[in-house]
This record gives sequence, C-alpha cells and structure tokens, in this order.
Amino acid sequence: MPDSSSSSAPHLLVAALGGTIASTANASGGVAPALSGAEIAAAAGLDGIWPDLQADFTQVSQVSSANVTLEMLFDVVELARTTAADGIVLTQGTDTLEESAFGLWLLNDSGIHIAATGAMRNPTLPGADGPANVRSAALTALSDQVGGLPASLVFNDEVHDPRFVTKAHTTSTAAFSSGPVLGAIGWLSEDDLHLPHAPRAPKSPFAGLPRPDRLAKIALAEVGMGEPEETLDLIAGSGFSGAVLSGVGGGHVPEHLAPAVARLAEVMPVVLASRTGSGASLKRTYGYLGGEIGLLETGLIPAGILDARKARIALTLALSLGLDPAEVFAHFG
Ligand code: ASP
Repeated sequence: MPDSSSSSAPHLLVAALGGTIASTANASGGVAPALSGAEIAAAAGLDGIWPDLQADFTQVSQVSSANVTLEMLFDVVELARTTAADGIVLTQGTDTLEESAFGLWLLNDSGIHIAATGAMRNPTLPGADGPANVRSAALTALSDQVGGLPASLVFNDEVHDPRFVTKAHTTSTAAFSSGPVLGAIGWLSEDDLHLPHAPRAPKSPFAGLPRPDRLAKIALAEVGMGEPEETLDLIAGSGFSGAVLSGVGGGHVPEHLAPAVARLAEVMPVVLASRTGSGASLKRTYGYLGGEIGLLETGLIPAGILDARKARIALTLALSLGLDPAEVFAHFG
C-alpha cells in the first residue's frame, strides 16, 4: 500500500501550467493546452488509491513549455508556502520540465514536496501517459519518503533528482534521463514508491530569500567546432548580467576562442559548463589553451554537476538576488 495511506485524509494540491498533458485538438489541426488540472487529475484514478483524498487545484498558467517562466515557479513556491496540502503535483509541458523541477528544487523552502510531471502523448492519443504520470507524481508527492526533498521529476514510473535529469528524446515516453551513471533515484510499481537511495537534500543557497523584483538576463552559448568569437563578443556588448558557456567535453573551448572568453569574463560573471549533459565540469585536468585550467584561471566559475540550462537558472537567481555566483556554484561542485 502507498505509505501515505497511513495518514487519515491525504491532501494533494495540483498546480497546472499547461503542456501536452493538458492538450486537446484545436483548429490548427494540432493540439494545444486546454484541460484544467482537475480534468487532468480525474483521469489518474487517484480516488482508487485514496478514497478520502482531498484535492485542490490551481491553474497557474495554460501554456506550452517554452512559455513557462521563472515567475510562474515563484508563484508555485508561494502556493507551497501557503497551502495546507501534504504534497504538490505540478503538471506542465515536458520541454522545460527539467528546468522547472530544478528551479523548484532551488526555491521550494516550504517543506512540502513538489513532484513535477507531464506527458509525452497527449490525451487524444492511444496510450496517453499523462494519467499514469500524474498517479506516480501524486504517490511521490504524498509519500513520507520524500520528506526533506524540495522537488522531484516523476515520469514513466521513475523518480529523478532535479539536479541531474534532462529530457533526452523528442517523443519517447521514456524521454527523461539522469545520465548513464546516476540514473533515476527511485521508481513506482503497484502504487508503491521505491526510493532506496533518497539523496541528501543540501540546503539551497536560495532558501528563505524573497522573490526578486526583476530577473537578471543571462546568456547561454553552446560552443561547437569552429565556434566564431563574435558570438561571445556580441554577448559581452549586449547588456547581459551574466553568461553560461556550454563547453565541449569537460568544459573546453577552441584555442582561438580563449581571448574572447577572457574579454567576456572581464565584463560579467561567466559560468563554465559541459555540453555533454551529465557528469561534473572538470577543474584540474587539461592544461592546453582553451582547456578548463586556463579558463578557470581567467575567472570562469565551474558549473560543477549542473548542466548549462540548470546553471543558467542558478546564475539568474544568484544575480537577481544579489548573491555571489562563485559561492552559489560552490554548492554544486
Ligand atoms: N512536447 C511538449 C510537452 O511534452 C509540449 C510542451 O512542452 O508544451 O508537453
């Protein structure tokens, strides 16, 4: 039996933002977000697990993934801080689900777990996965086992740590991966949550801080073969508050780019991530021009275990809240 069944009347809040999980056919010939959180949850059969479930629904937005914003995540955290619910399920599009889950992991200081989920197959398709994902997310959000963890990403019967998970496929229902080494931290079967190695939940550098008045603008540039230096010089001259470089391998750039990286680091904080998508950025291995040793000596800040997208969120919050980026990223070394 789900461990939350021991509490007398479990109380769930569903915060809905839109996405495929909420989508229905429209005049375009395609689908677009339209269903409410209540309609999404109705298909998950939650009353079959908890006949006395108390469920609340908040429609935070009704948008596709690309239109989800950090502002919406602050709204969700505010819900978490004020709700009487035991757990929260967040439903949204999968394209930016990893960013939302990580943003919530950083910001949710409420003590109420937020399990983020979505769907790869929209509700008009055979085998739509939204209902099963919502069921798994509810089982996770209401579980005693996630106490102390601010957020998770629950998908395809798996539970992922938001610091590591990425969307790695455009259509598969197994689209979410936490990389070839770490993998998921748990799974669901027969309405049981299995979380044998629940991670430590280090205190977020953003816990307890107020919502910023405005968000800093952070550029993200991925470095590729023959990357032109103009990309970096344009960023340096465009009024950004900071930048994230997604370097090749452990965090490297071509030799010819090293001077432009130095120019960029003179005018704003620059975080150095790896474009591989998993593992930690290197600090002390490669000594050639464009290697991480020289780049870090230039003043770049290592992204540590965060990929470039997550580093962009952490740097946005750090600069918006007046925190020292190097101290923030030291939490992810
Ligand atoms: N493919 C997307 C999804 O899974 C669409 C979106 O992200 O809004 O929800």
